[in-house]
Amino acid sequence: MTDLPTLRESLEAHGLLARKSFGQHFLLDLNVTRKIVRLAGPFEGRAVIEVGPGPGGLTRALLESDLGRLVLVEKDPRFLPLLSELDDGDGRLAIVEGDALKVREADLVEGPAHLVSNLPYNVGTPLLIKWLTGPWTPLSLTLMFQKEVADRIVAAPGDEAYGRLAVISQATASARIVMHLPAAAFTPPPKVASAVVHLIPRPDRPPPELQKRLERVTAAAFGQRRKMLRSSLKPLGGGALCEAAGIDPDARAETIDIGGFLRLAATLGM
Ligand code: SAM
Repeated sequence: MTDLPTLRESLEAHGLLARKSFGQHFLLDLNVTRKIVRLAGPFEGRAVIEVGPGPGGLTRALLESDLGRLVLVEKDPRFLPLLSELDDGDGRLAIVEGDALKVREADLVEGPAHLVSNLPYNVGTPLLIKWLTGPWTPLSLTLMFQKEVADRIVAAPGDEAYGRLAVISQATASARIVMHLPAAAFTPPPKVASAVVHLIPRPDRPPPELQKRLERVTAAAFGQRRKMLRSSLKPLGGGALCEAAGIDPDARAETIDIGGFLRLAATLGM
């Protein structure tokens, strides 16, 4: 990596300006990207998928790590020539032009893989849901979000940020914020601060059918979060559903923990 031009020089040499529509905010400081990779690893020879490598700041740090293979998925074709320069021909790097919302990860890697990404903010939440609830499960996810979204992923019952995203994320994975970054860490700087969330999918993830019911329960409960559950859950069984699940019907959604929502979802299907 030491013979490569700096990221700024590469961007200038290729005449690349950030595109707003692609959510492009770049990390050009290798000290920052190396730290993110340290927090994501160790990879112990496993494969890593990086979504949205852009000019390749995270990619360079990933290639210095103990990963076995690195698959990049980038939607903006302008970056492909620049990313090809990072390929030293040892067969570890694969570059895929595509939309991460549409790709089938199982087609990209053989066997399990980690996910690392400085996510485009406009598609961050749908991608997280895809990876946590879809048929392909990563070994771990280390993802940059807007701080406000990161707070919603890790929120606990009683927190203002506690809602549907916390319940679905924590029902399927353990999640914690491992790093905070100010807007000034990015080029160009976004309007808001960011945070890196590290998630490890649970081996006992709820099966797809239960996840669907969990979605219905949390949509109804948090759709009217100031109301008591007997009222907000009325279309799904209201007070009777709560009592059958061992939940206080007078409680509000924001006080119910993940286990409580899973019991409500399981009872809904009976
Ligand atoms: N990883 C680079 C960094 O840290 O400097 C760039 C991060 S930038 C926030 C997001 C990147 O995701 C951009 O390169 C953008 O083109 C790419 N991107 C946006 N939407 C995408 C999608 N649906 N699938 C794959 N890549 C996407």
